[in-house]
This record gives sequence, C-alpha cells and structure tokens, in this order.
Amino acid sequence: MEGSIKFSMMKRLRNGIIGDNAKRISLAFIILWLGLSSLFSNPSYSEKGIHKMNILLVPVGEIDKKVIERLQSDLGKIFNKEVEAGQGMSNPDYAYNKKRNQYLSTAILKTLMEQKEYMAYGKVLGVVDQDLYVPELNFVFGEAGQKAAVISLTRLRQEFYRLPQNQTLYYKRALTEAVHELGHTYGLGHCRNPQCVMFFSNSLMDTDRKGSEFCLECNRKIPGEK
Ligand code: ZN
Ligand code: ZN
Repeated sequence: MEGSIKFSMMKRLRNGIIGDNAKRISLAFIILWLGLSSLFSNPSYSEKGIHKMNILLVPVGEIDKKVIERLQSDLGKIFNKEVEAGQGMSNPDYAYNKKRNQYLSTAILKTLMEQKEYMAYGKVLGVVDQDLYVPELNFVFGEAGQKAAVISLTRLRQEFYRLPQNQTLYYKRALTEAVHELGHTYGLGHCRNPQCVMFFSNSLMDTDRKGSEFCLECNRKIPGEK
C-alpha cells in the first residue's frame, strides 16, 4: 500500500476541488498493491482448463460496452494473451459503504475470486463504475492481488472533475489503469521510470503522462510470451 490522503479530504475532492488544489494536495493514493497473496495464491485455480493463460474481463455492474470491447482488444495486444469478456456481475451492493458513499475494492476483488467459473483463467480483471476505496485511503483507482484485479472508471472521466467530456482521454486512462493493475498481478511492483505504466501515479496527470506501455525493464519481467 502506498501513501494516503486523509479521509476528511474526501468530501472536498469529491466536490471537484481536486483540479484547483492539485498542487497543494499531496495525492499519494491511487493504485493499490495489496499483498493479498495468501488469498489468491491457491494453485488449483490455474491448474486446469483451456483458458489457463487467458485474461478474463468482468463488467461489474452496468459498464459501457465500448470500454470493455476496447480493453479486450488493447489488453490482448499488450499482454499477448487471449482476452475474453465474461458475463457481467450485478452491482456490488455488498461492498457499499453508506457513510463514505463508496465501494470497498477489496470486497469486490474477493468476490471475483470466489467465482468458480473464473478459476480456469490466468487473470481476472473486474471493471467497476463505482467509486472505490480501502479504509486507509480516500479512494483508489484500482486494486490488485496475484490472480485478480479491479479497476474503477468513475474517476477517469473528465466530467467527474467538472471538465468537458473527453472520450479519448477516458479510454486511455481506463487502459492505463487496467494495464497497471494487471501488471501487479503478473508480479510487477512500481517502477521508477515516469514514462512506464508501472510508475506510481500520484495524480491523474501522472496517469495521463505515463500512458499504458511498460518500460523495457518491466516488459522483460512479464512472464513468458512477450
Ligand atoms: Zn500500483
Ligand atoms: Zn517500468
């Protein structure tokens, strides 16, 4: 886990002040790499099934189909794997925290891993359009374990910050977050190269700058067939 913003700031951030105060607020947050190895390291998950190496994309709740299609196509090229789009799961009401008006990402991650039909896949990526959190941070863009990851689209839209819609930027951010979190599931930690997708994003500005590509060093660490 990496830095945090105190929970008390959340309301201000949610009210759109994030843009104005970006320089004053040390946004140490975002992409969360929790050591959930004990939870997701059961070897039986990947022992059988023809999908062993494939990545499964799972829309959790109502998700724009275009985002899933684009992620499916682009992640396939980046990771050189088959990417399948799974059937959607219902809105993760079980993860909702009324006080925070946010969803606990760890609970969604756990639910993804409890689906028996997903066990044959190499990796599972849940895509949520709800604002995610973990208790220590005011929000997260995503969270990853060894087998599964989850990303949220909510804070990737310009409209969230009361800025004009920008679909290109929105898709690019979604891909960047997806690659980053999947990168963690392949064992990659954060990278010091600010142009690398595994660089820790301190803000969306970092996310936009670094883009969705691995640096050469990180690229080499992706197991197998890259
Ligand atoms: Zn990360
Ligand atoms: Zn790197």
